Amino acid sequence: MTTLSHYLENNQTDISLPLLQQLDCQDPLATKRDAFVLPKNTVYLDGNSLGAMPKLVAERAQQVLSKQWSQDLIKSWNSHNWIDLPVTSGEKIARLVGAAPGQLICCDSTSVNLFKVLSSAMQMQPGRKVVLSLAGNFPTDLYMVQGLASLLGEHNCQLKLIDESVNDQLLEQELTDEIAVLLLTQVDFRSGRLLNMQRLTELAQAKGILVIWDLAHSAGALPIALDACNVDFAIGCGYKYLNGGPGAPAFIYAAARHHNAVSQPLSGWMGHSSPFSFDKHYQKAAGISQFLTGTPAILSMSALDAALDVFADVEMTQLREKSLALSHCFHQLVLQHNCLRPLKLITPLKPAERGSQLAYQHPDAYALCQALISHGVIADFRAPNILRLGITPLYLRYVDIWQAVTTLAELVASNEYLKPQYAVKNKVT
Ligand SMILES: *Cc1c(COP(=O)(O)O)cnc(C)c1O
Repeated sequence: MTTLSHYLENNQTDISLPLLQQLDCQDPLATKRDAFVLPKNTVYLDGNSLGAMPKLVAERAQQVLSKQWSQDLIKSWNSHNWIDLPVTSGEKIARLVGAAPGQLICCDSTSVNLFKVLSSAMQMQPGRKVVLSLAGNFPTDLYMVQGLASLLGEHNCQLKLIDESVNDQLLEQELTDEIAVLLLTQVDFRSGRLLNMQRLTELAQAKGILVIWDLAHSAGALPIALDACNVDFAIGCGYKYLNGGPGAPAFIYAAARHHNAVSQPLSGWMGHSSPFSFDKHYQKAAGISQFLTGTPAILSMSALDAALDVFADVEMTQLREKSLALSHCFHQLVLQHNCLRPLKLITPLKPAERGSQLAYQHPDAYALCQALISHGVIADFRAPNILRLGITPLYLRYVDIWQAVTTLAELVASNEYLKPQYAVKNKVT
């Protein structure tokens, strides 16, 4: 019998519809699709920006509104464990990113959480002022460093950027002992390039540098081993591969070894060791709860908490295998269509070097994306010229890949995408 790994190992290039149908039949994750509400006649390739809605979320939201909030009112903080949700949701994420209990908590947005861990890390590095990152990092990450730098002054905090196209060896050379913090996003939001967490963390730490990993495009998309890689701090997003819903709360990981030394500046009452003593002096909580600030957003955190249950029986290695296979098939199909030659893949092809998306450059990427969307294939566009396709193995089928590439080829071959309506710019791309 032909298996998935057989096709990957032999770098199978001849992808046919019957083959994809066969792969769907053999797919151990096939039934997970039923856990999601998906619109009809749509191939959703944007789960890296906003994950699809799990059915469990609709049930949970209904319960929170019609029973917990409306009927049980404020008693729900205790009776429905609202107060513990940042921890309980956090522990569900911890399992997916290789963190032992007590080190990961759900709260606020990724941007705000970055500010908290970055300030904490800078405080632990007296005498060092440079935050090193890549120029192509997601802008909010760079903006948050710039904000902290203007608050602390340039004698205490400076952002240094190196070109994102650097190879690993050049990046290693930049890890000098002047650097306080290395801030990296594990999977690049444009190209989908995956960095080597283990090696870079080790090299940086050998120079006394603390490392913060942004897991926005990797949590829920591939196996991560934060503890095993000895990572110092990490942050990540709840609404991308974790499917927590628009604007879902984000998360913070801080290695237990740092809990005593750190103090984060957004010292709100939820991070106090005893919030309901209403003490006038701030005394940080002992563990990961010290990273909390204000009252958790229970409606959205409940949605995220329910969404995380979809992962309860998912092996991340299995999910990764399917992700790589789906993207392999996608790109091979692109290569099979002559009309798609102008699409230039900027995602590294080696499995160890890519996350769970494909990115193609094309001069008319925006129009291509709009045309795809109006033909039922939801992708997204990233300025200036990137068509981005998110691969989410929990709800994508192999035949969806066929559908997506066939649609793309038809739109290009017919020049349909050049119609003026596809050039109209939307506020969100
Ligand atoms: C999506 C994303 C964010 C989002 O930050 P928010 O505060 O949730 O808006 C941050 N960092 C990276 C790398 C991202 O991809």
